[in-house]
Amino acid sequence: MIYETMSPQETFELGEKLGQKAEPGQIICLNGDLGVGKTVFTQGFAKGLGIKESVNSPTFTIIQIYDEGRLPLYHFDVYRIGEPEEMYEIGCEDYFFGEGVCLIEWSKLIEELIPEKAATVLIEKNLEKGLDYRQITVEGI
Ligand code: ADP
Ligand code: MG
Repeated sequence: MIYETMSPQETFELGEKLGQKAEPGQIICLNGDLGVGKTVFTQGFAKGLGIKESVNSPTFTIIQIYDEGRLPLYHFDVYRIGEPEEMYEIGCEDYFFGEGVCLIEWSKLIEELIPEKAATVLIEKNLEKGLDYRQITVEGI
């Protein structure tokens, strides 16, 4: 499914809608360039799960866990990971095969570790359509 958003708010709302429908064990891979809106989408998704705490990019910690929603949210940002193997050190399999929902920013950097069941969200700009335009391709949800 391809969506188009014209503002951060619209991307947030798409995330929120998907967060409301999220199911235990779901894994969503978020890809797209720096500053494209992966974290904005995640913030909406978290709201959709009923998380009130503010969600930011966990760039320096790889994973941030939010427990207050309808399901646990495991928010990964693997942009600064050195080796995919570092994911095992943080126990990624417990999260990937757990009962919560995993959102993984920059998942393509650890592609070989991503379970096959994962859904994907690719966010892309198109400057011809304006600075705030985003095309969001959702597959597997
Ligand atoms: P990423 O996590 O992909 O690096 P962020 O979500 O942190 O990106 O930042 C996206 C930036 O782009 C924010 O400053 C946001 O306000 C801006 N932005 C502009 N238009 C959009 C849009 N349509 N969807 C999402 N973010 C947008
Ligand atoms: Mg981010």
